[in-house]
Amino acid sequence: MTSARTRARLVERLRAQGISNEEVLNVMGAIPRHEFIDEALSHKAYDDTSLPIGFGQTISQPYIVARMSELAAGVPERLSALEIGTGCGYQTAVLAKLFKTVHTIERVGGLLRNTRERLGRLGIHNARLRHADGSHGLKELSPFNVILITAAAPIVPESLIDQLADRGRLIFPVGTQEQELRMIERHGEDFLESRLEKVNFVPLLPGLS
Ligand code: SAH
Repeated sequence: MTSARTRARLVERLRAQGISNEEVLNVMGAIPRHEFIDEALSHKAYDDTSLPIGFGQTISQPYIVARMSELAAGVPERLSALEIGTGCGYQTAVLAKLFKTVHTIERVGGLLRNTRERLGRLGIHNARLRHADGSHGLKELSPFNVILITAAAPIVPESLIDQLADRGRLIFPVGTQEQELRMIERHGEDFLESRLEKVNFVPLLPGLS
């Protein structure tokens, strides 16, 4: 149930859902998703659903991780990515295989402690984890080639676009009940926004916990 064969089936399903970036498919075929969730749920680890990870939070559905990672992988330079909403660290692990360095911010301290230990155990050493409210990004370490937000804000987080490198991408869900995945791409001082598809994320919340 947690074998390489199960992961190969996950990859085939992602392909059928329209994910075509081979690098992303390879990475997701290699990362043991069952290590990111409670053992009692590991029989569901490769289903295409989000799952609870404690602290009222979830691990994102594999399709959405693949979709966001594919958009992230499309930037011309992959030096540095910022993720807002670390959770269990699955998306962080995928980004860590695609980017030289990943900075990731989580507001729930208990979750972050588990995730730090997990990523260490899995040998992922190019992810820097930070306990903070990520709504304002991480100005002192900007610019980033990609900023990826894995919790939904009610409005477009325009303050973050200053932290994008040229030709960088801000990938984020926006909305409350009805949410949409969007991307803002920087071209010098021009910003091109695309509206992508309907999604369902936990809310981006203020402050620490
Ligand atoms: N990236 C995760 C998805 C985590 S769910 C995955 O791979 O499955 C979203 C996470 O965002 C939750 O852990 C939640 O606590 C966190 N979050 C919500 N608001 C936040 C904020 N303002 N700053 C940082 N993290 C936040």
